Amino acid sequence: MTLKAYLASDALTGTATITAIGTEPAPHIRIDTTLFHPQGGGQRGDRGRIGPARVIDTRHAAEGEVDHFVESVEGLAVGDVIEIAVDPEHRREGARLHSAGHLLADAVQAIRPGLHAVAGHHWKGEARVEFEGAVAIDEAFEDDLAAKIVELVSAGLPVRVVGDPQASRALAIGDFTPVGCGGLHVSSTAELADLNVTAIRSKKGRLRVSYDLG
Ligand SMILES: [Zn+2]
Repeated sequence: MTLKAYLASDALTGTATITAIGTEPAPHIRIDTTLFHPQGGGQRGDRGRIGPARVIDTRHAAEGEVDHFVESVEGLAVGDVIEIAVDPEHRREGARLHSAGHLLADAVQAIRPGLHAVAGHHWKGEARVEFEGAVAIDEAFEDDLAAKIVELVSAGLPVRVVGDPQASRALAIGDFTPVGCGGLHVSSTAELADLNVTAIRSKKGRLRVSYDLG
């Protein structure tokens, strides 16, 4: 099992020992402890480097393992102790998109308490949060939401991991109720000043709020 150090640490660099090397379905490496966030919870996997190998994706694997997909495993061997480094720009983009989804969920639930977030997808270009609840979307919804987002961003609320990182990790924005989450996050809502709601749609009893950054 891979020690999921990323759940407790935002560090981008460290050392690890290679525990397995595979080529199916694509070249990948397992290490004893990782700072790379795998794809999941609506976010993309981290990229970066493991020794000389460029990591292009990170995925959860069976039995608590984490697969780091690389361009090539050449020159690497099980037992090697290597430097690992997460790509800071890719990480930051993922963290901002993911945190923006949480902020949006809290904002919608604050202005229309009958709605609750049920799903999120935080990929660039297709980011959205979906809500369920017996609340009809009225004409004021869009303006109310925009105003609430401005309020929460301006307040510069802290975004924190709470609970036991390995067992009950949750993300909390300011005083909002923490939400179970193993994902990436920024440290303050002030980092999300360029959050835009791009579409609000009701479909099959669900409300979908799409968004982007920048
Ligand atoms: Zn999350």
